[in-house]
Amino acid sequence: MNIIVCVKQIPDPETPAASFKVDEAAKKVIPAQGIAPVVNPFDPQATEAALRLRDAAGEGKITVISLGPDSARDAIKHALAMGADEGVLLNDAAFEGIDNFQTAVALTKAIQKIGEYDLVLMGRSAADWDMGVVPAGVGQLLGIPVVTVAKGIEKNGAALKVERVLDDGFQTVETPLPAVVSVSNEFGEPRYPQLRQIMLAAKKTVQVWSAADIGMASDELGAGGRWLPLDALYVPKVESNVEIIEGDSPEEKARNLAQKLRAAKLI
Ligand SMILES: Cc1cc2nc3c(=O)[nH]c(=O)nc-3n(C[C@H](O)[C@H](O)[C@H](O)COP(=O)(O)OP(=O)(O)OC[C@H]3O[C@@H](n4cnc5c(N)ncnc54)[C@H](O)[C@@H]3O)c2cc1C
Repeated sequence: MNIIVCVKQIPDPETPAASFKVDEAAKKVIPAQGIAPVVNPFDPQATEAALRLRDAAGEGKITVISLGPDSARDAIKHALAMGADEGVLLNDAAFEGIDNFQTAVALTKAIQKIGEYDLVLMGRSAADWDMGVVPAGVGQLLGIPVVTVAKGIEKNGAALKVERVLDDGFQTVETPLPAVVSVSNEFGEPRYPQLRQIMLAAKKTVQVWSAADIGMASDELGAGGRWLPLDALYVPKVESNVEIIEGDSPEEKARNLAQKLRAAKLI
């Protein structure tokens, strides 16, 4: 079973709010100084799903793709250290400013260049832009079924049985292969690579493909090829007023607070 896993590198979601800055004129996120980007938290779960399927089948190859800057190689290396076999980094200045649709096109072309695949696994969403649309886009472009938000994946003969997370329960569906499946955090903890696996991962191949290597024409990239115009990008202003309730004793402070709340018709 040949599985392709797409992993994305994102700004660390633990970045303190004060360090998160946006260039509103350029409509770009300014990378926080001194805080390294991380792999999107749902994507190691997609890698874990691939590893469990390969272990159960006793054979197969797992190829990891990431589209991003040079540093996105770390996201690929993490998946390789977990046990994936090979990596492909889609890296080109032409990918600057790429939107979700263009991302789906680029990943699709890379998947088609890899060629033989039975399953494409992705995270349920990327925790930065958090739109959750790339898996559906890739499935549509490849012309294969898409199953989203998986908490369990099992091979069932020639098909795949997938347990999905719903708002108020779970749903089990079966899909023929090849298919795209997006994996949710309910899938369970991904394995943590040991030092030896991290060292072995350094020896695994990561190919770097440009836009031209995957046959992406310049009119498919850049502002002209975007499907999603970005009108504005900004951090919302949060205002808060704090009033210190005075009083000589805790009882008096509590009385003054109660009077204020009553005056404001809150009690
Ligand atoms: C106008 C516009 C300009 C933008 N400019 C930039 C920019 O300059 N730089 C930038 O980084 N982003 C930019 N973005 C955001 C970028 O397009 C999205 O981050 C990207 O398309 C993925 O969408 P998402 O984050 O919503 O992914 P989701 O659909 O939420 O991701 C779901 C899953 O898809 C897979 N996936 C998504 N993206 C990738 C990837 N890059 N590589 C491998 N797997 C992936 C992962 O498995 C992920 O878990 C821009 C967006 C717009 C609309």
